[in-house]
Amino acid sequence: MRSVEEHQRVVDELIAARPAATTGLAEAEHLVLADNVAATVSLPVFDNSAMDGYAVRAADIVGATAESPVTLPVAEDIPAGRTDIPTLEAGTAHRIMTGAPMPPGATAVVPVEATDGRTDVVTIREAADEGRHIRRAGEDVAAGTTVLRAGQVVTPAAVGLAAALGLHELPVIPRQRVLVISTGSELVSPGSPLQPGQIYESNSIMLAAAVRDAGADVVATPAVSDDVAQFAAVLDRYAAEADLIITSGGVSAGAYEVVKDAFGRDGDQGVDFVKVAMQPGMPQGTGRVAGTPIITLPGNPVSALVSFEVFIRPALRAAMGLPDAHRPRRSAVLTEALTSPRGKRQFRRGVFDPGAGTVTSWGPPASHHLRWFASANCLLDISEDVEQIAAGSELRIWDLR
Ligand code: AMP
Ligand code: MG
Repeated sequence: MRSVEEHQRVVDELIAARPAATTGLAEAEHLVLADNVAATVSLPVFDNSAMDGYAVRAADIVGATAESPVTLPVAEDIPAGRTDIPTLEAGTAHRIMTGAPMPPGATAVVPVEATDGRTDVVTIREAADEGRHIRRAGEDVAAGTTVLRAGQVVTPAAVGLAAALGLHELPVIPRQRVLVISTGSELVSPGSPLQPGQIYESNSIMLAAAVRDAGADVVATPAVSDDVAQFAAVLDRYAAEADLIITSGGVSAGAYEVVKDAFGRDGDQGVDFVKVAMQPGMPQGTGRVAGTPIITLPGNPVSALVSFEVFIRPALRAAMGLPDAHRPRRSAVLTEALTSPRGKRQFRRGVFDPGAGTVTSWGPPASHHLRWFASANCLLDISEDVEQIAAGSELRIWDLR
């Protein structure tokens, strides 16, 4: 049997980064920059007022106080966006708004609160030092400066800065595009009535959610019956649009294992079927379909999602350059005694209490108990060589929060 680490390496090698591309700002959020970004303009672009008030020469209002105010004629009105920028003559004031361009000749702004606010002649009750309330061109960013770096995740502030610099695109590592195929003749879409023997199909919506949560895109989520022709038709239809194909079901040891049947059980048709020493998630497969990587997950919902967490999520995130490919690993004190199968790495669902530093196993280990996973917040990571764990032991957990 293959170890979890060995299979992780196989999956890591299978999933490759897409070539860098430029993308619109709105699509760039959460992606990783493929290149440094330099400012093409300065910020602020021009000297402008930091306050609503009056642009003046500081020398004209020296000594102004409430008791001995200075009165100046208001020669111009400069709202934000005015593009014909007048010059301030000595002995006059211009009414000016926040963000409006400073008139040449002005050396300070007096806030409206320190005046009577009139528009013909203004009475000023406060002196100002030179430069007061002026935002200088380039004091935030000088043109030519590298403002964003390759490898950084695009955040709201980063797209805001790019837009402020007049950029409408960013160079990014594109999202991986993932095709999610569910297999099983027993599966019925949620919302339709069930016949005896049928169950609701839950893996495609669940794995698609996990793909998006990992930061990747979902191409489509078709579900097929255990019919090789149907399965092949879905691959034909979608595989070329995907960077990765994930299937669930049809890889166990029984009959009607559509994924195994489609690729040949002896691994001669592009997919290797292997057993990984883990619980849940032992039957796994990896390979390529017409060049596109494919990972075949077991069908039990808990196995499928645990397998995604252990193998696919970190590889997808690494291929997108995301800095935190792995879930945070923590150590927690186990609240009860547990057993684990010898020779298999067990990933139980758990509830981690960060305040107490404890973890409680959540639900039975068998892989059809999805209900417990839905209220778990971590995976317990129990080594192959451990069979008994006493209450109070320190245990490694993967923090899913
Ligand atoms: P398989 O790996 O195809 O043998 O499936 C193992 C178990 O998982 C069976 O009980 C299936 O009914 C169940 N299963 C497989 N695929 C899905 C799915 N997409 N949604 C819900 N249950 C599934
Ligand atoms: Mg099946």
